[in-house]
Parts: sequence; structure tokens; C-alpha cells
Amino acid sequence: MNFKPSRTFALEKLDNFIDKNLIDYSKLRNFDYGPENRTNVSGLSPYVSHGIIDEIEIINKSLKKYSFVKNEKFIQEILWRVYWKGWLELRPNVWLDYLNDLKKIKENFKNNQNYLIAIDGKTNIECFNYWVNELKENNYLHNHTRMWFASIWIFTLKLPWQLGAEFLLQHLYDGDAASNTLGWRWVAGIQTKGKNYLASEWNIKKFTNNRFQNIKLNKNAAPILSEKNYSINNKDFANVEILENQSLLVFENNLSFETTDFQDIKFKKILLIDHKNNYRKINLSESVTNFKSSLLEDQKKRLEEKSINCEIININEIKNITENIYAIYPSIGENLDFINLNGLKNIQFLYRKLDQFSWQYCNKGFFNFKNYIPKIIQKFI
Ligand SMILES: Cc1cc2nc3c(=O)[nH]c(=O)nc-3n(C[C@H](O)[C@H](O)[C@H](O)COP(=O)(O)OP(=O)(O)OC[C@H]3O[C@@H](n4cnc5c(N)ncnc54)[C@H](O)[C@@H]3O)c2cc1C
Repeated sequence: MNFKPSRTFALEKLDNFIDKNLIDYSKLRNFDYGPENRTNVSGLSPYVSHGIIDEIEIINKSLKKYSFVKNEKFIQEILWRVYWKGWLELRPNVWLDYLNDLKKIKENFKNNQNYLIAIDGKTNIECFNYWVNELKENNYLHNHTRMWFASIWIFTLKLPWQLGAEFLLQHLYDGDAASNTLGWRWVAGIQTKGKNYLASEWNIKKFTNNRFQNIKLNKNAAPILSEKNYSINNKDFANVEILENQSLLVFENNLSFETTDFQDIKFKKILLIDHKNNYRKINLSESVTNFKSSLLEDQKKRLEEKSINCEIININEIKNITENIYAIYPSIGENLDFINLNGLKNIQFLYRKLDQFSWQYCNKGFFNFKNYIPKIIQKFI
């Protein structure tokens, strides 16, 4: 699968998918035919997670081709990301606890042979080893494979889910705090308490077209137990009044300013934030940092073509800004952590309208959220 770091490429990929493959999406989406044959899924997540194209843009285009009924499964999948983000926004301690637990576990596991063998792709489970290498080479795994991968990691290799979540974040082009952490919690049986996801030999064989043999997995593992309960944080996602001629920070997950809700506001300067590994708790692989750097350059180029004053700056430089400044809300994750840890109170967040409206429905499970999808569509399309 090819992921060129550009908006032009992402739009071509989207149009091509809608034109040729969307029609069979709900029937074929669960099959992983291998990295050379991925037309049954969109491959858009590296772009959506960086805000190169956004959810409404995608849904809009898909509805121009097919009705809501024909398109429902794809639209639901697109909105999973908004749901996971909203769910985490309402329970920010889930992310902070994850990072704290990870720190301790990493120390305990740094010389653990089972862990080192797993991340080296040298276990005795052929499919798992294949996926480790595929992840490192392509920086992408199919959704079903991420579920099998996490399940094997937790229940057959018996490794802590927090380390697996870190490993994926390090290598995925679409690595994202909400989708990744909550995806792993879901497989472990913590997200939906007591309900874990157990990968099985027949399921892997069927949905990979029998590409793998000798899949000996733990068939009877119990869900991971967690004592922690998180109450909902009733945060207000309202925007402040936006004054013109102030500067705006844009983080790595909103890299298409010219299509955002804020595109018509005259900002003094747009500062595109480069979040280097030395300021991250989870260090990203070189290919992922290169991908992010190229996406930043691509956004800069597009802004310059529109004669918008902009610059790429290192995240550490935002500590030196003393004036009031806006930022498109980066959502829970390492960018927000940087702002909070450094007490940068002069930054005022601007929330996307889609998030402001949708996050009110993220207090319960996705089945509940799904009921509000027609309302979301009606409001934004
Ligand atoms: C353990 C685990 C970890 C994951 N980690 C991440 C992650 O770090 N970043 C990430 O973006 N996704 C993550 N996912 C979700 C999902 O696997 C990917 O978004 C999906 O595989 C992207 O491929 P695609 O674009 O071809 O998907 P498609 O099937 O074509 O879906 C279209 C779009 O819908 C959205 N989407 C689909 N499924 C999901 C989902 N379960 N959660 C959130 N959005 C979804 C994505 O934006 C995707 O681009 C994870 C899932 C699991 C089970």
C-alpha cells in the first residue's frame, strides 16, 4: 500500500476508492488479502488522522455517489474516530493512566525475552511475525489484523496491552492516542468490561484467504481485569470569540487548515508544529517521523500557494510565545500533554464544529452513538 504524504494524493485515493470499491466495502472490509491487495478498504486513516482530509469531506463525497442506506457501514466506520476521540475527551485520565502505567511496565520489561522476541517478529506464531514485519515496513495494518495482533499479544503471548499499544503507535502512520489506546482496551476486555476479543485460527484463516498455517492460539483466556472506573468529565468544548490578526497554532492532526471551520479567519501567522521525538513520551519510528515532516511541508506549501503567512516551528518554541495565541484543539494525546505540562495558559483552543456537536453523544457505547449518526449527517452535510 502506497501512502504518499500529500493532500493531492489523499484526495485521489479517496475518489478512486469511492468510484471503484465503496460498493463492496461492507461485504469485503473484514478481509486482509495482504499488503499488495488492499482495494477492499480505503487506506485513508494516515490522512484522516492527520486532518489532511476530514470526516465530513469523505462522507459528503461518498453520499454524492451512493445513498445513506447503501453507504451506512462506511459512514459508521468513518465516524468511529470521532466517537473514540470524544469518548476519551470525556475521560482524559484514561490516557494519563495509560502513559503512567506504560512507564512502569517498560522499565520492568526492558530485558524481557518474550517481549523482545515479539517486537522482533521471532515468536512461534507465523502470522504474528509476518504482521510485525509488515507493520515495520508498511506502517499500516488492516483493522481486522490489528484486532488479531492485539489479541495474540495479550492472550497468547501474555504481554501487557500497554506495551503492544506503544509498539503500534511507534510504527503506524495513522497512530492516534484515542483510536489506538481504546482499540487495545477493547480487545483486552477493559473498554467493554468483561468482554474480550479472542482471535481464533478459523477466523484468521478465513479472513486472510488461508495465507497462514499453524495458528496455535490460547482459546480460553479471560478478560483483563481493571479496578479503575472513570467518571465523565463534563468539559465545555465551546469556542472563545475569535479576534483577527492573532496567530494560530496547528498541530499534526489538523494539517489542512484551508478546509477547516477556521479557514475564513485572517490570522496573523499560522505556526505549524513539528513535534520531535525528544519531547514525546512514545518515540516514533523514523519512517513515521519522516511521514509527519513531509505532511507538514505539504501543508506549508498549500498555505503559501494561498499567500497565507506560515512557518514550521519546533514544539519546544511554543514555550517562548508570550502573547495570546489560538490553537486548533489537538485532542488528547502528546501535543495537548506538552501544552498542559508546560502550563501554556496563553493558548486558547478552537474546537471543530463536528467534534463540538458529536462529542455530546460519546458518553456511552458506540451502539448508542450510532443512533445519532443521522442527526450528525443532517447537521453537517
Ligand atoms: C488494536 C487497534 C489499534 C488501532 N489503532 C489505530 C490508530 O492508532 N489509529 C487509527 O487511525 N486507527 C486505529 N485503529 C482503527 C482501525 O484499525 C484503523 O483506523 C483502520 O484500520 C484504518 O484503515 P483504513 O483507512 O483502510 O480503514 P477503512 O476500513 O477504509 O475505514 C475508513 C476510515 O474509517 C475510520 N475507521 C475505521 N475503523 C476505525 C476504528 N476501529 N477506529 C477508528 N477509526 C476507524 C478511519 O478513519 C478509516 O480511515 C486501531 C484498531 C485496533 C483494533
